[in-house]
Amino acid sequence: MEFIQHLNPKDTGWIEVITGCMFSGKTEELIRRLRRAEIAKQNVVIFKPEIDKRYSDTKIVSHNELSLPSIMIGSASEILDNSENAQVIGIDEAQFFDRTLLDVCNKLANTGKRVIVAGLDQDYRGIPFEPIPELLAIAEYITKTLAICVECGNPADRTQRKIASAERVLVGAADSYEARCRKCHYIPGEGGSH
Ligand code: ZN
Repeated sequence: MEFIQHLNPKDTGWIEVITGCMFSGKTEELIRRLRRAEIAKQNVVIFKPEIDKRYSDTKIVSHNELSLPSIMIGSASEILDNSENAQVIGIDEAQFFDRTLLDVCNKLANTGKRVIVAGLDQDYRGIPFEPIPELLAIAEYITKTLAICVECGNPADRTQRKIASAERVLVGAADSYEARCRKCHYIPGEGGSH
């Protein structure tokens, strides 16, 4: 975001994406940006998908327990209905929305709003987690947050699932995951050596 600090877009909206693996500080960074917008007296509204009930129904909460009030929604199209008066729109856990999110983010940015989206870029297998890859393509600003590999201490961008399950998402199971680097990451049940 150094770029934005030096050259703020004028008379236009834009899309920022904060993406990376679990425990990389995505929500923390989202909250940091939204707090600064609030301090600047901008009208901020925050959304999260219904699937993410792990900590709170009415807040987004980072792993280090920062939080901001948020609106829980069932589909991305509800964001438009609730953003009319907002100047800044925050969206957390965006990987749980479908491709409608792309259109919604473009519409918001096209009407002059700043849209800040946080979400996982890969699932537990290391497969790109749609719609985030396409969101990266239409965003003006991208931040990839890295965690620390719990095995070797390298920068980590993979989410290691510690239990065998074919489900893409295990909601409310943060204990079942840890951050790993490329070298130490494996897919449970597929001949991992760890
Ligand atoms: Zn490692």
